[in-house]
Amino acid sequence: MSSQLFCPSRFLRQGSKSVTTILKNKSFYSSYAKTLAPGDQLHGYRVQQVRQVPELELTAIALEHEATGAQHLHIDREDSNNVFAVGFHTPVSDSTGVPHILEHTTLCGSEKYPVRDPFFKMLNRSLATFMNAFTASDYTIYPFATTNPIDYANLRNVYMDAAFHPRLEKLDFKQEGWRLEHEDPTDTSTPITFKGVVYNEMKGQTSDANYLYYIRAHESMFPGTTYEHSSGGEPARIPDLTHEQLVNFHKTHYNPSNARFYTYGNFPLEDHLSAIQERLSSFKRVDVPYVNKKVTPWTEPRKMSSTCAFDPLSPPDRQTRVSLSFLGNETRDTFETFSMRLLSYLLLDGHASPMYKALIDTNLGSEFSANTGYDSSTSTSCLSIGLQGVKDSDVALVQERIVQVLNDVKKEGFDNKRIEAAIHQMELGQKHKTADFGLTLMHGITSGWFNQVDPIDLLEINKNIERLKQELAEGDFFESRIDKYLLNNPHQLIFTMQPDQEYATKLSKAEEQRLADKVNQLSDTDKAEIAKDGKQLSANQDKVEDLSCLPTLELNDISPKMKRTVLDHTGLCNTPVQWRTTSTNGITYFRAISSLPSLQDDLKVYLPLFCDALLSLGTRTQSMAEIDEEIRLYTGGLRASTTVSTSHSDIDHTEEGIALIGNCLDRNVDKMYDILSKLILETNFDDTEKLKTLIIGNASGLVNSVAEAGHIFARTFAASSLTPAMHNAELLSGMTQVTFMNQLAATEDLTEVVAKLKTIAATVLKQPTLRVAVTCGEDAVSANESALSRFITSLPNDDHVPQHQHSNVFVPKYAKTFFPLPFSVNFSAKAYRGVPYTHADGAKLQVLSSLMTNHYLHREIREKNGAYGGGARYAGLNGLLSFYSYRDPRTLETLQTYASATDWILQRQFTEQELTEAKLSIFQGVDAPISVSEEGMLQFVNGVSDDMRQRRREQLLAVTQNDIRQVAEDYLKTNEASMAILGEANDKLMNDSSWTIQQFGQ
Ligand SMILES: [Zn+2]
Repeated sequence: MSSQLFCPSRFLRQGSKSVTTILKNKSFYSSYAKTLAPGDQLHGYRVQQVRQVPELELTAIALEHEATGAQHLHIDREDSNNVFAVGFHTPVSDSTGVPHILEHTTLCGSEKYPVRDPFFKMLNRSLATFMNAFTASDYTIYPFATTNPIDYANLRNVYMDAAFHPRLEKLDFKQEGWRLEHEDPTDTSTPITFKGVVYNEMKGQTSDANYLYYIRAHESMFPGTTYEHSSGGEPARIPDLTHEQLVNFHKTHYNPSNARFYTYGNFPLEDHLSAIQERLSSFKRVDVPYVNKKVTPWTEPRKMSSTCAFDPLSPPDRQTRVSLSFLGNETRDTFETFSMRLLSYLLLDGHASPMYKALIDTNLGSEFSANTGYDSSTSTSCLSIGLQGVKDSDVALVQERIVQVLNDVKKEGFDNKRIEAAIHQMELGQKHKTADFGLTLMHGITSGWFNQVDPIDLLEINKNIERLKQELAEGDFFESRIDKYLLNNPHQLIFTMQPDQEYATKLSKAEEQRLADKVNQLSDTDKAEIAKDGKQLSANQDKVEDLSCLPTLELNDISPKMKRTVLDHTGLCNTPVQWRTTSTNGITYFRAISSLPSLQDDLKVYLPLFCDALLSLGTRTQSMAEIDEEIRLYTGGLRASTTVSTSHSDIDHTEEGIALIGNCLDRNVDKMYDILSKLILETNFDDTEKLKTLIIGNASGLVNSVAEAGHIFARTFAASSLTPAMHNAELLSGMTQVTFMNQLAATEDLTEVVAKLKTIAATVLKQPTLRVAVTCGEDAVSANESALSRFITSLPNDDHVPQHQHSNVFVPKYAKTFFPLPFSVNFSAKAYRGVPYTHADGAKLQVLSSLMTNHYLHREIREKNGAYGGGARYAGLNGLLSFYSYRDPRTLETLQTYASATDWILQRQFTEQELTEAKLSIFQGVDAPISVSEEGMLQFVNGVSDDMRQRRREQLLAVTQNDIRQVAEDYLKTNEASMAILGEANDKLMNDSSWTIQQFGQ
């Protein structure tokens, strides 16, 4: 996604499944380990610990600011993608969403930077590789990352001033939090309604049944503590919050004594400390507020239930969710947390896990419930196991099965191979070089850090692995924990959620009632204020601001030359192979694309299922559970997926293919290629039981993703009538695929499905259609060559490659389509045809999208219409320009905004500074560090060479005001567009004959 969303939800959920991803360099050395020692004083700080973590090749330094008690963790590591973050402990005692609204309002201007939304403004004056803010259940954190030292200092100033000296004006609170306002703020005869960014954001969040399930189950586990409240805010409770309470919450929580600072990378610690210390000098040490986090343990299990909206996209008789949650260990005990995470992984992860076999393979539910896994984001952890897509009548059976599995595992223990595979995954995870290592590390430690865990303990993975091996040898390791935490734990919750046909109606009735109560109490003075503030807010939004107080990078901070990637191209057994030899820490990364012959749409729509089938069904001689175990024991994971790419020189030309992706330690390359060819050659498509499970899981997963990322579905659908590539993307991953998969899920007889999958298997993944990319160390090339040759020759080598049959010439059509869906807020998109990647106008359209988003669409769609996000995006590789809105309560107004955007840009005169800002924001993406496995992939997948990218770079840097006008005339003014909306049934759209109504499932 191009625009940044300030969303807490991603972060509220701490998944159990990820094994920490970490990286390792050969030349690990830090001078701090020699020069600093506990007790040393440095710029007003006292050093508390200096510890080397060799497995991550870093030195961690913990310090305390002496005057205020502010905690600081610095991670010294040879990595140019430096991170800064400041966080505050913000537990809550109600569900008004005060920390979340504060997180938003903090970013609305500060003492030194008294402009509206300096944060968004900085997005365009910086080369940051990451900027965001998160509200978690008991803390709030503001991180950024950049490789540029000037940029780092600029952003640090803005972040520090925002956190410690925000203006927190009443109007900002109203805009970001909640307010009463006339529907049309300029017309007091229109009815008064609730508005506000967070208000709508949380309405959107809670209309996602998975989120609702997760949050309700979690809150119910911790009665009497801060965790029984929602830090993001309950839409029903948000209007209880006053501006005064917000300001007080800031005063008591956003002070250095309650803060944690995190710095990471290769910039010097001294610079960080002296800069931060300067800003903290006006503060004194204060007491931090106490909030209870310790839940009183229950003496017997509890049952709770709740309701959610009925989902017309899913089978009506399979919409129940049920889970068992168990109170776990104190997260302060880091080894126990590590052990519980591993236990959760062994119980739940992958086809070979006992819970998967007992719950998913048996089709008791469509997939695990949203809360399933180990959650250590609270001071006492919790482990949950549950299902969604369950029949009402099966609720008791699900509980019985879970308990049965726990009893079996306690008796029989886990297979040693499974434990070995889990440890292998950790080993490999440590070696994998990611581009955002500093942020990954931060996310891994913050919630512990705010709960009295020593953050450095969380980094020492090898220490935990060593202790684990020792204790495993002593026996009874997992068995005793299953007993203590799961089987004999009275603090357990059975939580069910069932759909209610009336849910949405009840919800909006309740909202109307709350509104009526508020409105009835309004005095004439209140009403006058509402009218005045509404007008003032609209006026503010149109005000052109002087931004000269904000620091900025210049155009010449962008390097005119791009970093090139050295690639070798050879052939192996007539298959083109792209080699990238570089330091990979002993990992081989493999990717292959088999391009497809032209298939009919009715076969093509089966391709995603075919790809998933390769990694889900097993073969005639081995179950998927066995193969999955091999995959975990010998590789870092294998994937098969469809790919669609547009030609870099013709947007009406597309390549479709199947991509195979995998990585492994160099010593396992033989095994990885063997597993791959086994999957391709021997997958048993006749296993209809497994196939059924797969289809049901896919259907349910797709439905969930529509609620989460509806704007992408809207955008894909709108674009699908414009280019052949997007036509295919819609079939493979758009609403068409969602509908198709749900129709399959309702089909009892899978004979035809099996036949289609076999037809595809006989047509694709053949030697002559294959090309391969390998990234590995110099010393692993020859091992890869021989293993790869065997892999390639194992594939069918038909003399006859299906020729591109005569395919119809693609003619763009312009359509308006509305998908009525039960969302309380909508998603919309409008798409235009652009140009191929190598066309000079592409760069201009890209700058145009950025200008339009920053100076027009963001203001109109987010600030005025109250949508959570909105903007324009130019997809350079696909040659498509699209406008979109995300969680949008006023879609009809947004359509008006889209319609007037062209006229707006044609008359708008941009300054040089504004053009520079647009370019900076584009180069944040262009120059963002990428992980080693992604190097050279633009060349391999899209055929885009470094020369083409260098040309594009120069074109981007050269874009002028006249260019913007030219492309606006050429592509927006004269061209037609397609539109799509997903959301609440709307009379105006339903009765407008220019819109096609697409009922789901038809
Ligand atoms: Zn938010």
